[in-house]
Order: sequence, then structure tokens, then C-alpha cells
Amino acid sequence: MTASLLPNYIAGQWVTGQGAGTPLFDPVLGTELVRVDATGLDLPEAFRFAREQGGSALRALTYRERGALLTAVGKVLQANRDAYYEISTANCGTVKNDTAVDVDGGLFTLGHFARMGETLGDQRHLLDGEAARLGKDPLFQSQHVLVPTRGVALFINAFNFPSWGLWEKAAPALLSGVPVIVKPATATAWLTQRMVQDVVNTGILPPGALSIVCGSSAGLLDQLQPFDVVSFTGSADTAAVIRSHPAVVQRSVRVNIEADSVNSALLLPASSAEDAAATLELLAKEVAREMTVKSGQKCTAIRRVLVPEALYDAAASAISARLAKTTVGNPRNEGVRMGSLVSRAQKNAVDQGLAQLMAHTEVLHDGRSAALVDADSAVGCFAAPVLLGTREPDANAVVHDVEVFGPVATLMPYRDMPQALQLIRQGQGSLVASLYGSDAAALASAALELADSHGRVHVISPDVAALHTGHGNVMPQSLHGGPGRAGGGEELGGARALGFYHRRSALQASTAVLTQTTPVT
Ligand code: NAP
Repeated sequence: MTASLLPNYIAGQWVTGQGAGTPLFDPVLGTELVRVDATGLDLPEAFRFAREQGGSALRALTYRERGALLTAVGKVLQANRDAYYEISTANCGTVKNDTAVDVDGGLFTLGHFARMGETLGDQRHLLDGEAARLGKDPLFQSQHVLVPTRGVALFINAFNFPSWGLWEKAAPALLSGVPVIVKPATATAWLTQRMVQDVVNTGILPPGALSIVCGSSAGLLDQLQPFDVVSFTGSADTAAVIRSHPAVVQRSVRVNIEADSVNSALLLPASSAEDAAATLELLAKEVAREMTVKSGQKCTAIRRVLVPEALYDAAASAISARLAKTTVGNPRNEGVRMGSLVSRAQKNAVDQGLAQLMAHTEVLHDGRSAALVDADSAVGCFAAPVLLGTREPDANAVVHDVEVFGPVATLMPYRDMPQALQLIRQGQGSLVASLYGSDAAALASAALELADSHGRVHVISPDVAALHTGHGNVMPQSLHGGPGRAGGGEELGGARALGFYHRRSALQASTAVLTQTTPVT
């Protein structure tokens, strides 16, 4: 029996593609689940409808009213949470804890922006800074304002976060008053489609505020107009295609790119043996967790681990001991800690990347010899944790360059802090680096040294061992994105997230006029 074709939602209508569709699979059982297809969709009408109907309806609301819509959306999603867990297990191969990172992480982020709407209050624009005198007489001044862009926000998303990837972008866009068209990655589009379907069917959002196109991205970028924005998450290769697309280049379309990243974890030198043991344990715990959460399919996961030379062997043992406890297999089995990768294509990519790294490294822990729990390796798309090591990281360019999007990391020793920071910079710009130590001054200094090449620096010291939010967890309050290789994008960061969806303008006028633009709070 052919699996059902998921409908797309555009121009206020559910529309099924005219092609046979691309199948989505269960990466554990190998069974076909549903199909997606975008053939024959009237994309010009989809964008026009979103821009005109969705945009004007959203802009007519205040931030507080839009925040209330997000709260209502959150309630709908919460009510259907069990279904999302089932879809995630079936289509992404995730254990419950990993599903939570995506599903509950999405809901948490949505809630953050819903509450922000309340704080921003009954206004439809934002002031940017104070009024500034333009001449000697203070009567004529300049006041910068932020107003929602009169276009569509097109999201082209990656396969690893079908829920969080939607809501971390849609929440700030909708709160800003900008309608959304999302194109999820094909392999895991089902969860995104189902969430949009649940929200659309309740009629909470104005028509045109939220649309979804599943399947091929063909033709989407051609629709872009000057006031639209594109937020892309995925590979550097696709990012380059988007950046250079004629519609983007010729119409100055604003683009945000979140691409790949070879993130690092750095253990700072310790002042005593006890200190070294304590901070090494903090590092080992975080590295093992980051390698295995979502089977390493997190853009923020730790890929490089740097430790003082004298601690290389101890770090290898401590991380390996934790990885050895990771049971891999069918996520439906309660004894399994780590499920599968999302697809055969990802399994092939991970195997290929691992082989590339293994040609230049030693293997410190190899989980591939352990038996799968309740699963067949010939059918499922499984990857086991592998810790690699290189004792000559200066001369080993490949470990700073190849991102294996799976449960793989490389350990490396460093002589002194300048070398450690230099090695981290060989990643050419990353989403996140984490630092481990107990000397506050040394941690602060290293954090500031790395801030120019990282969107986020996560510092773990013993005093916050039980409090910190995790190297790889993206919190809505903090910036997500990174310079250089990481794509150069910026998402989240509290109210900063709204900036991408607003246009800044300087109003130059008399103080009497500018006073009228001051929002009522
Ligand atoms: P990808 O192949 O670049 O796909 C990403 C998205 O782009 C998918 O929706 C894909 O659609 C679409 N796409 C593919 N070709 C396109 C084209 N020519 N024009 C427009 N859209 C196109 O990336 P991926 O392999 O799925 O994702 C893994 C990568 O994403 C990793 O490198 C990871 O580091 C990165 N990532 C980054 C972040 C972050 O926040 N920085 C988060 C997650 C993942 P189809 O699925 O239909 O091909």
C-alpha cells in the first residue's frame, strides 16, 4: 500500500502535490511512513496571499495580541504532544529524551516569545535607542524605529530539528508581525507538517500567517520580493546556492544562514590535581552527552575536545567510560539510550566522514562493536559513538575541518593556552565553544578571546555544574548562530531575535512629532 501523501498548506488551502511524492521512512524499521510532494503548487499565489492577507492581519495586531496568539498556539501543540512524540520516534528514530530536545525545546522557545509579547505591550513598532540631536537646537532630532517588514519570512530548515527548527524561527517572526512559509527538510518533514496542520485547523492564526510547503524547494526562492526575508538552516553548500540566488542578489532579500560548525570543548589548565580531576569530570560528562544526544545530529554538538597534554590519556579514559554506557538501538525499547540517525543518506554521510577522520586519527573508543538493542543494523540507520584522537593537532587540518554529523568527536592535547585558542580558531568560526575550569579570571579571559569567532561561549565551572543549560542546548535568551563557517547568522538572543523581521528607519522630526512615536506601555 502506498503511504499517504501529506498535503501542503498555502494561500489558506490544503493542497496535495500533483506528483507521486517522495517517501519518508522509519530509520529504525525501514518502513515507509508518508509521502511529501510540492509539484504543481501555485507558489506565486502562496507568497502573495501570505504577504497580503497574513502580513496585514498580523501587522494590525499589537505585540501583546500576537504574543497571545503564540500562547494559544503553544496550548494546541501541548495538547497534541503525544502524537509528536510518536511521529518523532517513527520518522527521526529518537529516544524520548532526544524527542524532548526537539518537541519540548520548540514549545519552550514558543512560550518565551509569547511572554515577550506581553512585555512589549500594546504597540505595533519598537523604538531603537534614544532620540539624538541633529544640530545645536534640540528641537530637531533623530529617532530610530523598528517596524515589521512587509514581506514573508521563508524558512528552509534542516532535518535534525523538525519541531524546534520551526518554532525558534516562527515565534519571533509571528511576534514581529511577519507571516511565515516553512519548507522543512524532506527526510523529517512529517512532524513539522503535523504541527502546522494542528495549528491551522484550530483557526487561531489569521489566514496566510502560517503556510507549509513539503518536498522540493524548486521555485520557492524565485518568489522572493525585496521585503521578504529568508532564514536557512542546513549545509554550507546549500547556503551558497541560496546566497547567490538571483532573487536574493537582485532584490536585496535579507538572508540568515545557520550552517555547519566544528564546535569545541576546552579544558583549561588546573592549579591542583583535585581541581584537574573535578574539571576533567565536568568535561567528560558534557562531551559524552553532546556526542550522543540526538545521535550527535545537533549543529551545536561538540566535535573537538582540547585538553592539556598531561591529561590526554585521562580524558580519553573518562570520556570512553561514559560512552561505553550508551546503549544503541530501537528507541521504543526502554533500555536504549541512543536511537538511530534520521536516514540512510545520513548514515552514509556519517560513515564517510568517520572514515575520513579515521585516516588521520587514532581510535580511542569504538562503540561500533557493541550489539544493537532490539534492532537490525542491516535495516536501521544506526551509528555508534566513536571517540577519535590526534596527538598532533597542529598538523592535522582535517580534524578542524570535517564535521561528522553523528556521535563522533576528536580529542587533542595542547601545550599552552595560545596554542589551544589557535587550534579552536582553525574551525573558522563556530556556533559554540565550551570552557571547563575553576579559575574565574582564566575562564573569562578565554571566553573573551573566543567571542569573536563563536556565537556563544558556554563556561562550565564547578559552581554551575548542576545549573548550566548544556553546551549544545540553544536557549531562546541567548544568541544562536556563528561567524564564518557557521554561516554568519544570528537567531534568538531574546528580543534581538525580532530584529531580523523588522526594518530600521531613522525618523528626523521635531520633538513634538517624535514624542507621538513613543509607544504607550
Ligand atoms: P541541506 O542539504 O543543506 O538541507 C537543508 C535544507 O535545504 C532542506 O530543507 C533542503 O531540502 C533544502 N535544500 C536543499 N537544496 C536546496 C536548494 N538548492 N535550494 C533551496 N533549498 C534547498 O542540509 P542537511 O544536510 O539537511 O542539514 C545538515 C546540515 O545542517 C549540517 O551540516 C548541520 O551542521 C547544519 N545544521 C545547522 C544548524 C544551525 O543552526 N547552524 C542546525 C541544524 C543543522 P530537502 O531536504 O528537500 O533537500
